[in-house]
Amino acid sequence: MTKYAPGKEQHKAKKSLGQNFLVDSTVCPRIAEKAQIDGIGVLEIGPGFGALTVELARRAEKVVAIEIDEDVIPQLLENLSEFPNVTVIQGDAMEVDLRLLLEEQFGDMPVAIVGNLPYYITSPLIMRFLEEELPVESITVMVQKEAGQRLCAVPGSRECGAVSAAVWYYSEPKILFDVRPGAFRPQPKVTSCVIRLEIRKEPSVDVNDTEWFFSVVRAAFGQRRKTALNAISALLGTGKDAVRNAMAEAGIAENARAETLTMEQFAALAENLRKK
Ligand code: SAM
Repeated sequence: MTKYAPGKEQHKAKKSLGQNFLVDSTVCPRIAEKAQIDGIGVLEIGPGFGALTVELARRAEKVVAIEIDEDVIPQLLENLSEFPNVTVIQGDAMEVDLRLLLEEQFGDMPVAIVGNLPYYITSPLIMRFLEEELPVESITVMVQKEAGQRLCAVPGSRECGAVSAAVWYYSEPKILFDVRPGAFRPQPKVTSCVIRLEIRKEPSVDVNDTEWFFSVVRAAFGQRRKTALNAISALLGTGKDAVRNAMAEAGIAENARAETLTMEQFAALAENLRKK
């Protein structure tokens, strides 16, 4: 029984909160190392009992950790008692005003987001960090391997989806390493991986209206068995001829599917459709 993953008698892990605590003591130092946080601020999502938090606290200037489950907080605070540079906030990372929190807690300090994410909200959390354009330098998180592959898939490749386009728009993503199920308690059914998104200073493509760009991307991927032409036309309610012309002007074949389009093609297509 480790103090970072107490046995069932002390704490029954809550599946609904994605509680899989890290028990392999080699994994947390690796994540903290790869997060490149020496001397900067860290916003940690889901500290649990603090296995990763202590490794972050050893390297970062300051760590602020948001944990939803009030039952773990007393033990978490005890485990962190020798680290005065950690602040624990009880709350829901999907609900907290993160921009305000970053400003209040870190001021001008550069900040990275790090966490062994609860898997039930991996994509919504990452999308939230990206779409709100939070002032952070990078996001280094553990996710299910399949989710990691999808998030980091290059637009234009078979595995990509609307979420990959958002990841590539705002960041430069990398899959760092895999983590086996046996590294956690309770063990998840699948392999996990750690990914790192380095936030770009400027988006990867130039678009005039980001919201419209992502409406087009989401529509294109919205009906995966259809061609991009049919999916966009159905979901955006734009006439087929207009979509066909916009695609032709962007150099996209009429029968192309969304997963074959590059970021540049999506940007050109969105721009052409915006003008129609
Ligand atoms: N970091 C710990 C570790 O590696 O052992 C725990 C990781 S566990 C996969 C995910 C943690 O996120 C749990 O402690 C869970 O209670 C917490 N959590 C789940 N949903 C959350 C939310 N919406 N906001 C903040 N924390 C959440």
